[in-house]
Amino acid sequence: MLSLLGNPRDDYDTVCREITNPSLRAKIRLQDVGPFRVRGIAPAVESLEQVLIDVRAEVPDVHAGLGTAGMLCARLVRGSTSSISNHSWGTAIDLTLDGVLDQRGDGTVQEGLARIAPIFNRHGWFWGAAFRTEDAMHFEVSDQLIRRWHGEGRLGVGRAAPAMVLNLGDRGPEVVALQRRLNELGASLVVDGDFGPATRAVVVAFQAQAGLVPDGMVGSRTSERLGLG
Ligand SMILES: [Zn+2]
Repeated sequence: MLSLLGNPRDDYDTVCREITNPSLRAKIRLQDVGPFRVRGIAPAVESLEQVLIDVRAEVPDVHAGLGTAGMLCARLVRGSTSSISNHSWGTAIDLTLDGVLDQRGDGTVQEGLARIAPIFNRHGWFWGAAFRTEDAMHFEVSDQLIRRWHGEGRLGVGRAAPAMVLNLGDRGPEVVALQRRLNELGASLVVDGDFGPATRAVVVAFQAQAGLVPDGMVGSRTSERLGLG
């Protein structure tokens, strides 16, 4: 997310903040997507509109009760001190059903959400019910879809893939691969896909030992020395 879209802000806490990054701000849209209006990054808002068209056609009773508890909101993941929530880019949305918000982490999900989740999935969105802390009201654009938008030039940052850099606050499959590799080299990180302070500390130690600049950021040199694709 950080390498493809840039950092929405310089600092984060647990409260919803505005995006301060001007090039990202320029891509934010406020749009009616059927049952409600949302604010998010343009391709995500367009994709959400398509998802909701399918929801209306396939599960109209659920569509009739859908509301939102927010899309764009620059903040940390709840309960984390370093992971940036995907809401910060406006690529995630929290939904309500008949005005009710599904309780996060209670291990149960509203039936209506389970019925619309496959529709989100086939449009390239993940459902938060599968997260470590179940978050069933939450749907977010997959990394894969964001990469596709990037390849199609829809993120307005040029078609050439930027150098992949993993940094504190990043999340996703690349972080999982990094943590696995660091563990093979003797670390004992929890492989959770969150580039938090513990992962950063191991990266810094590896860089120092390998004679690289110990900046804690995994760019092309550090990736190469780690033997990561
Ligand atoms: Zn959410």
